[in-house]
Amino acid sequence: MVLMKIVFATGNRHKLEEVQRMLGPAFELLTPQDCGLTEDIPEEQPTIEGNALQKARYVREKTGLDCFADDTGLEVEALGGEPGVRSARYAGEAKDDAANMRLLLSRLAGRGNRRARFRTAIALILNGEEHVFEGEVKGTIRQERSGEGGFGYDPLFQPDGFGVTFAEMDMETKNGISHRGRAVRKLVDFLQGKADG
Ligand code: IMP
Repeated sequence: MVLMKIVFATGNRHKLEEVQRMLGPAFELLTPQDCGLTEDIPEEQPTIEGNALQKARYVREKTGLDCFADDTGLEVEALGGEPGVRSARYAGEAKDDAANMRLLLSRLAGRGNRRARFRTAIALILNGEEHVFEGEVKGTIRQERSGEGGFGYDPLFQPDGFGVTFAEMDMETKNGISHRGRAVRKLVDFLQGKADG
């Protein structure tokens, strides 16, 4: 069996382990740090697809290796798609989940439409070719936080078809329906197809 080495341009070990588990032993995922890249990887684009591509291209250029990168945003209908690509830093550079949720609730106060979706884009550069995989999950923003699990906006987001928020679900249930889970499964299917072929 040929081992395919791919860099996952993330600083999040947990994400890396999760994708590694889904890919199986035919693939070896490396972090940018494993390749000697210790600087922050730039993500300055106005869209999540743009950011995912920018990160993947940066790592590809620096390492010469196949690689992929992801970017996610929460898009709220009544706010014209905000916070979107700015989800992590909605309330400021501190990337403070609690402050981000407070700001979101205050901007939605008094609004009837609480529809929202999470969207993830994964950009893969394989043998010099670029591919983008997307995943999304639709739902609503609750009036107040509920649940302690997960991260980010999870305590406010209730996916369609469920009576609980992401923060009240076990990780397996969330991954089964989530934006990132869906995008990662498309990536995994694609890569496994390449490994088999
Ligand atoms: P990232 O691109 O995965 O770093 O996500 C950007 C931001 O979106 C995070 O800092 C969170 O605020 C939010 N986010 C991403 N994924 C999730 C999720 O699964 N649940 C809740 N919030 C998320």
